[in-house]
Amino acid sequence: MSKTAQSVWDNCLKFIKDNIQPQAYKTWFEPIVAVKLTDKALSIQVPSKFFYEWLEEHYVKILKVALTKELGEHAKLVYIIKMENTYGNKQPFTEKIPSSNRTAVKSQDVDIPLNNKSPELRNPFVIPGIRNVKVESQLNPNYSFDNFLEGDSNRLARSAGLAVASKPGGTSFNPLLIFGGVGLGKTHLAHAIGVDIKDKYPEKTVLYISAEKFTQQYIDAVKKNNRNDFIHFYQIIDVLIIDDVQFLSGKTGTQDVFFHIFNHLHQNGKQVVLTSDKAPVDMQDIEQRLLSRFKWGLSAELQTPDFETRVSILNNKLYRDGVEMPEEIVDYVAKNIKTNVRELEGAIISLIAQSSFNKKEITLDLARIIVEKFVKNTKREVSIDYIQKVVSDYFQMDIDTLQSKTRKRHIVQARQLAMFFAKKFTKASLASIGSQIGKRDHATVLHACKTVDNLSSTDKQFRKYVEDITKKLSV
Ligand code: ADP
Ligand code: MG
Repeated sequence: MSKTAQSVWDNCLKFIKDNIQPQAYKTWFEPIVAVKLTDKALSIQVPSKFFYEWLEEHYVKILKVALTKELGEHAKLVYIIKMENTYGNKQPFTEKIPSSNRTAVKSQDVDIPLNNKSPELRNPFVIPGIRNVKVESQLNPNYSFDNFLEGDSNRLARSAGLAVASKPGGTSFNPLLIFGGVGLGKTHLAHAIGVDIKDKYPEKTVLYISAEKFTQQYIDAVKKNNRNDFIHFYQIIDVLIIDDVQFLSGKTGTQDVFFHIFNHLHQNGKQVVLTSDKAPVDMQDIEQRLLSRFKWGLSAELQTPDFETRVSILNNKLYRDGVEMPEEIVDYVAKNIKTNVRELEGAIISLIAQSSFNKKEITLDLARIIVEKFVKNTKREVSIDYIQKVVSDYFQMDIDTLQSKTRKRHIVQARQLAMFFAKKFTKASLASIGSQIGKRDHATVLHACKTVDNLSSTDKQFRKYVEDITKKLSV
């Protein structure tokens, strides 16, 4: 009986199935269709370029063994890549087989119009078991464009967000990266975009997730051997919103997987929205190829709001809560809390609470006390950059010196102090502290913290350093 593409492939599948995890088999081999057999070359159709890359990266060996068993040692494998073409390119379905003597031969990317004739593969995400999963958006409906007040400080980011929301994946703002300092509205705006999209396009799959949670999920997936499921889950998303991507810094595994997911989504015209506390140029320990992707779309900064905007944010908040407050108090709060909208809101909420619980009238004095508390408390929310600056200023060296590889004692000590304070005053992980302070690893940071602890209990001079810097960081 003569061999057909189907019979050869069926035999390969039997062999492969016996040699890999059932889930991996389901995910990566079931969606493949055997297309053609010519002499020693078997052509198989895979749902996407990503799929092909994945097979090449992880299963090329087993494919080779299986195919050689069937077709002899000159066997060749040709991939035909099917893709959902979201840009309406009318290119017909063609295949190209570059000459190569590798077992696995890569065929040219092939774009097929959406109305092609093989409906069973129209959707490149034919992933058994995942197809019917309904994705919970994780969006907070309280964050909308309506209650995100516009001002000079946020006009670009807000308008870009609106544009993205009305045409997800259809603007040049892809990805849209919103960056800015703490409490300036990144998370709010990110949710607002998702909420608006869900409103306009209920059928779209929107997902909001923090980079931290994304990382955790990924680590869990790897532990449970579900990496493929993880990737596939993210590939079915139409609008992926990842908050605080700076969290990925130094996490190469997660960056890698995000890179693949990003490429897949972008290639398929899906929208990606990212937020970060820094502009791409200032991000540390993020792979270059990922940074360059971030820059493909638009980076829009959220700056600190000016006085007028701060007043309108406060008035809006009071209005929504149905509370009246004398104008001079609103002005006082707006004048004194300048760099963080979250604190601005926090102060006004405290004021309302104080006055209603204690039945006190809201006076300027009460406002003063509360504002003071806020400004003081939040001063402690220092950044690692700021800590490095304070420590290097204290020792009269520049930050480059502090971060350098030198083993000179006073520089090493300054660096260790910076690490110690970063651990003490920020929520950053040891790894992230290390990567930001001269690209050290977490063990070095841990060692630094212990050293500082030891020295400050044994060395008087050193204890003074710690006390002085603590004071500087707490003013
Ligand atoms: P970030 O993610 O940048 O740290 P958030 O998005 O959490 O900041 O914003 C902090 C708080 O400030 C939120 O309660 C948010 O609703 C509010 N906020 C920020 N910017 C605005 C704005 N332009 N209008 C109204 N509220 C704002
Ligand atoms: Mg946030």
